[in-house]
Amino acid sequence: MELYKGVHQISSLYGGRYLFQYLFVGDRVILVDSGIAETPEKVIFPHMERLGINPERLAMLITTHPDTDHQGGNSAVRMIAPGALTACGETDRQMVQDPECLYRDRYNHLQNDHGIGFGSEPSPDAGNRCRVDVGFRGGEHVMVAEGRDLEVLHVPGHSSGHLALFDRARGAAFVSDAVHGRGCPNKDGSMALPVTYFHVDLYLSTLAQLEGLAIKELHTGHWPSMYGDEIRDFFSDSRRTVEILDRRILRALARAQAGLTLNQLIDEAREEFPDWPTSTRDAAVFPVHGHLERLENRGQIKAIPGAPPKRWQSL
Ligand SMILES: [Zn+2]
Repeated sequence: MELYKGVHQISSLYGGRYLFQYLFVGDRVILVDSGIAETPEKVIFPHMERLGINPERLAMLITTHPDTDHQGGNSAVRMIAPGALTACGETDRQMVQDPECLYRDRYNHLQNDHGIGFGSEPSPDAGNRCRVDVGFRGGEHVMVAEGRDLEVLHVPGHSSGHLALFDRARGAAFVSDAVHGRGCPNKDGSMALPVTYFHVDLYLSTLAQLEGLAIKELHTGHWPSMYGDEIRDFFSDSRRTVEILDRRILRALARAQAGLTLNQLIDEAREEFPDWPTSTRDAAVFPVHGHLERLENRGQIKAIPGAPPKRWQSL
């Protein structure tokens, strides 16, 4: 779908969720995110061909953050467009270029202490290793054509190097998975996944950053595009979700003399958000752990020494 002149949203389904990539067409053709391993061949290249654009013309592929559904197609894009520069947030570089690293340092980094992980072997959806050529830190401008540029924003929280692109002239922000509302929806509107921010304070700073921009249209990785007041509502829902989770965790720990494990606190979080589905229960490990780290840093809770699984208690 053409969102506006020279900007296309490429859509497919992953599980029951939408999965969106974005194509910017000017003197240069720039792709934002590559989906899972099969998305380029099955969805992105056919879409480009229907637009009359040879995929070999791709000049740059920007990966917004390290996740199988955003970087999995990188090596397939490189195969067809070897001259295209690949880019991502500099602090996410290792995980974006290497599926092994993605699984070890992102999906399974809580496995040893808490017994929650997401498969020891990378899924085929994660694609092959693919070098990243350019690391962005935010503040850069990428020219699509003469007088037409995209600003690179650093919007951490879901990952530490998460990128968004801002077309300031249009007021259009392409934020991928930087903001989560109350969770990630299926196409039919039901909930598919809990919120999955990792770093709470960074996530809140990203919300503040985005609220400070004159965003008129918001395009994401999985949420249907939003306009005007829908954007304001989405940002306030997102902040409210953080507040509710933070309070619930503190309250639960205050009541539990012997402390609670991460697993027990996930159950607390899910009581607060009953629409988070059972099938993706464990994904709540990331925000809940993020809140525990933050509360610990603030001196409100402490980890109890002992064998895994780790437990926390309030102070
Ligand atoms: Zn995603």
